[in-house]
Amino acid sequence: MTYEEGKLLREAWKENGNQPCNHDFIDREYMYGGAHSDYICTTCGECHFNKEEFHKDK
Ligand SMILES: [Zn+2]
Repeated sequence: MTYEEGKLLREAWKENGNQPCNHDFIDREYMYGGAHSDYICTTCGECHFNKEEFHKDK
């Protein structure tokens, strides 16, 4: 998934009420050139540098 796709996901998620997300499906986030590789939730578009960040207590 690219950064742009993630951005669209985040916007769509907010418009749908910004529900809590379990972040069940985590993908790598790629940018042009491939140097950038954060993790991104394919459900809500949230992105973090580490996979562990998604499941920290809020
Ligand atoms: Zn999520």
